[in-house]
Amino acid sequence: MLEKMEILDVEKLIGDFEVMTKDAENVQRETLKMILEENGCAEYLQNMGLNGRTDPESFKACVPLVTHKDLEPYIQRVADGAFSPILTGKPITTISLSSGTTQGKPKFVPFNNELMETTLQIYHTSFAFRNREFPIENGKALQFIYSSKHSKTKGGLFAGTATTNVFRNPQFKKAMTAMQSECCSPDEVIVGPDFHQSLYCHLLCGLIFHEEIQLVSSTFAHSIVLAFRTFEQVWEELCDDIREGVLTSRITFPSVRSAMAKLLKPNPELADLIEKKCSRLSNWYGLIPELFPNVKYIYGIMTGSMEPYLKKLRHYAADVPLISADYGSSEGWIGANINPSLPPESTTYAVLPNIGYFEFIPLKENVEGHMQENGNVSFLSTEPKPVGLTEVKVGEEYEVIITSFAGLYRYRLGDVVKVMGFHNSTPELKFVCRRNLMLTINIDKNTEKDLQLAVEEAAKLIAEEKREVIDFSSNVDVSADPGHYVIFWEISGEVSDEVLKECCNCLDRSFVDAGYVSSRKVKAIGPLELRVVWKGTFHKILDHYLRLGAVVSQFKTPRYVGPTNNKVLQILCDNVAKNYFSTAF
Ligand code: AMP
Repeated sequence: MLEKMEILDVEKLIGDFEVMTKDAENVQRETLKMILEENGCAEYLQNMGLNGRTDPESFKACVPLVTHKDLEPYIQRVADGAFSPILTGKPITTISLSSGTTQGKPKFVPFNNELMETTLQIYHTSFAFRNREFPIENGKALQFIYSSKHSKTKGGLFAGTATTNVFRNPQFKKAMTAMQSECCSPDEVIVGPDFHQSLYCHLLCGLIFHEEIQLVSSTFAHSIVLAFRTFEQVWEELCDDIREGVLTSRITFPSVRSAMAKLLKPNPELADLIEKKCSRLSNWYGLIPELFPNVKYIYGIMTGSMEPYLKKLRHYAADVPLISADYGSSEGWIGANINPSLPPESTTYAVLPNIGYFEFIPLKENVEGHMQENGNVSFLSTEPKPVGLTEVKVGEEYEVIITSFAGLYRYRLGDVVKVMGFHNSTPELKFVCRRNLMLTINIDKNTEKDLQLAVEEAAKLIAEEKREVIDFSSNVDVSADPGHYVIFWEISGEVSDEVLKECCNCLDRSFVDAGYVSSRKVKAIGPLELRVVWKGTFHKILDHYLRLGAVVSQFKTPRYVGPTNNKVLQILCDNVAKNYFSTAF
């Protein structure tokens, strides 16, 4: 009875979304007004001289654009337990640790109930559109989700990764039930203290409920690929557990063991069935539908730095649709995927105009302006002129600025997006890249996306030998003059020196940025170096971040390892098996 009442009215959700997006400009005005009225008494806003004004023009004139670094002292005071309102009117009780995989260390950002509400709103919106095209029946979801340890800040505030704050909120479970996407694993597995053990148990729960599984998901697609790569290693052990009804001794945490004991009963028929299915597969192609015959789709963020995992995911998924999840960050949500039938490579995100106040810095103007001045590019030193949500132009690229209900005002998120079109009057954004991930030595400028395309091109050469790039990263080596690009690859098996030399040349040729090509030609940039690392190296990087307090659910392999990220650079450099220099120029 209760479950029935909680099922979402998807047509109403879609109707509300349509009404709101037809009036995006006014909704933005109203949203800004609400944010400023709720938080007008906070010290940060008091110092801006708004004097009660809440219109976008006054807001932009009084409040400066900021980065996380600018807000750090304020956030720190909140975390330290300051009594007065600093960033928000109502006290902040929780701090989110953003994954920080790009910078090398997690960042603190405020989290509050309003952020939780916007999380649910975006989940519901995209679910409504998804369910219209890919309806799921009442069943279960195999969700590879993990929550990090909850700690307390000096001032006694709860601190955990944003996903942890969401997963631990009672509203999350209710929302999953309402979306018929209840996780098949018990809570003890999700909050388990060791992610390797939780991953094993998630797989085991998935197998126990194999016929009920309607969808396979995670926050970021990386976790799904990691899960099925692990399955390849542990499937026999999983079958043993199912056959005997006894959990492997590798799972040591009592809370996890007792939760699993309630689900695990001896089931030799199921163990035989899984064994038969696994031995029938060729190189694990189609593993997911084979194990879960009623799966409707695979769901998780698949754009941006997740795109490199799509090939492997498609291999496991065969013809099960891959649907990218929404676009957001620990700082706040931005847009929902309302066109779920598009493949992840073409996914766009429609901005929800009531979940924050959004501005966009046009990149073209700013880059050109600055290049004329200096002949070199330094984004942050240009005086940017942001435009409003409904003023963006189709085909242009922008940096996203967020003003949130959780105390961030005109905050430069650091993401680059491209406007692909409009849904009613709200833009549909394609995620392009993080803007600070940039390979640059002098006038060259290559983004994460450029690196990804180069790696994809070169990886075709090893695909011919049935090998794949498991993961990759990059760095610039300026210890000798001229400096050069270094690309790190972990590969799934042996590849001949001859082919790897070709890959190295191909990588070098695939960076087509005019600044790079001309610098290579005049030898102002040295030959690109491909360093092949031992198998398991990227796992060590993941473990390193987990030790720092990151969580697998939010993990993104750093595609560029800067000089401040010594530890990761050291892991990569200590694990180099072979290296090659390009002879392409
Ligand atoms: P976190 O700091 O862990 O909250 O990660 C937030 C960042 O993840 C965003 O700023 C983006 O760079 C990236 N991200 C989040 N959602 C998406 C998405 N749908 N597509 C691509 N990248 C995303």
